[in-house]
Amino acid sequence: MDVTLTAPADAAASEVAAEAARRRTFAIIAHPDAGKTTLTEKLLLKGGAIQLAGAVRAKGNARRTRSDWMKIEQDRGISVATSVMTFERGGLVFNLLDTPGHEDFSEDTYRTLTAVDAAVMVLDAAKGIESQTRKLFEVCRLRDIPIITFVNKMDREARDPFELIDEIEKTLALDAAPVAWPVGRASEFAGTWDLLEKHFLPVDADDASAIALSGLGDPKLDQLVGPERAAALREEAELAEGACPAFDLEAFRQGTLTPVFFGSALRDFGVGHLLDGLARYAPPPGAREGDPRAVAPEEPKLTGFVFKVQANMDPNHRDRVAFVRLCSGKLVKGMRLRQVRTGKQVPVNAPLFFFAKDRQVAEEAWPGDVVGVANHGTLRIGDTLTEGEDLHFRGVPSFAPEILRHVRLEDPMLAKKLKTALDQLAEEGVVQLFRPLDGSLPVVGVVGQLQLDVLQSRLKVEYGVPAGFQDTIWSMMRWVTGEDKAALERFAQQNRRDAGEDHDGALVAFFGSDWRRKRAEEEWPMLRFHAVREQH
Ligand code: GDP
Repeated sequence: MDVTLTAPADAAASEVAAEAARRRTFAIIAHPDAGKTTLTEKLLLKGGAIQLAGAVRAKGNARRTRSDWMKIEQDRGISVATSVMTFERGGLVFNLLDTPGHEDFSEDTYRTLTAVDAAVMVLDAAKGIESQTRKLFEVCRLRDIPIITFVNKMDREARDPFELIDEIEKTLALDAAPVAWPVGRASEFAGTWDLLEKHFLPVDADDASAIALSGLGDPKLDQLVGPERAAALREEAELAEGACPAFDLEAFRQGTLTPVFFGSALRDFGVGHLLDGLARYAPPPGAREGDPRAVAPEEPKLTGFVFKVQANMDPNHRDRVAFVRLCSGKLVKGMRLRQVRTGKQVPVNAPLFFFAKDRQVAEEAWPGDVVGVANHGTLRIGDTLTEGEDLHFRGVPSFAPEILRHVRLEDPMLAKKLKTALDQLAEEGVVQLFRPLDGSLPVVGVVGQLQLDVLQSRLKVEYGVPAGFQDTIWSMMRWVTGEDKAALERFAQQNRRDAGEDHDGALVAFFGSDWRRKRAEEEWPMLRFHAVREQH
């Protein structure tokens, strides 16, 4: 083979490898009010994306100018869209994928976590692990996503750090290694001691002003924070080093250990330290599992997958924006990509980068980046895009919904239209759709109330079908599988009133309580009841 012919390909591969290596694609997971928005703003400021900070919180006019997003977003002044914020710092490109919380908690939140390589878990220092932190953590655990913990609000009354670390370990079954230790508490909070680097980070100082000491015994520490706080720190740091697991990069990357930082997003303290930790420890894009093979990010041919689809609010334009996470290669404007599921060619004429404030046309994008691809409803969640290869990425799952409602039609003449609309919206991933085996009204399932509002609004605006919701007697569902086909058949027969099929025809069971679910599992040991199902 002529070596000169292979040279350009090698150059392309090394360029892709270099760009991939400097990407850090992550999400912030937190219970509402823990400080995710505040931290996001401060991270963006650190990255020099100053024009973006503030926009995160802009729930009024700034957001409303994006008139092409959904009506519901305008009405509520919240973002239904998963936005992607990109900033650079120290030669690295950070892609922060927003995971909406609060009442806008939805399946998009879960799916976004399939598109990141790391997560920052923000805890309120007074509250520790809360219900939504836990739920989001469980989703991260499905893919063993490495997690960095940021204990926020250290400027206020906080729980004992040892207690917080213990709670992370016990409730999440995750080793927790403090890398910073708080010096003083609440109004006496003076900064943190870096347990790895052995330096002191005084509060209200910028990142560059870490004060190097010879160790905890250095008498300068007493001058800096006063003898009382210095004595307490010496005792606690010694205890922490003895009693807590030491930071271990390998264990972190495998998702079994979390480094713990302490700080205050509001006072912009410890945020730079956290970002340094993210830069240093969080992994760049790695190989992604697929059928029939895994794909390495440095491969020169482009691959990616769709993890979210956003509808345009204009009912006259059925266009959608698919959020594509790139896994390998380089994306340039004007490329034609293959949608593996259908074999269709998808033109990428104007790939979009999503910033908090604006949508911008990207010139090129690399592994780890997320781009928006406009299309007319062709691209679906879970789709893989390639330059031609027949390859499918795994890992964009469906999660068992926690809210189940019958869809009630106001005008029975519109039944057929409703069916079409529900099918299309389910395909898009707005809600999950189930058809009960006994032929009763279709059931929609969601993980957040907002999804129901979005569904209702879109049924009306886009399809002209006014519909309402009716409570079901169920509070949870599971996908049912088993090798024993006869047992599956028997289960379906005996539970016709509490079973159905999902959009792809897979068998599901509905339960009125967790107790009933457990009972079914005991009664049907040959079957499996899953809370997560991978989309195909
Ligand atoms: P989110 O719901 O997780 O996005 O939380 P926000 O960032 O909106 O913060 C919730 C509230 O906590 C707001 O009133 C913030 O000002 C406040 N907050 C956030 N970080 C801190 C902090 O470090 N210290 C204190 N005292 N308050 C904070």
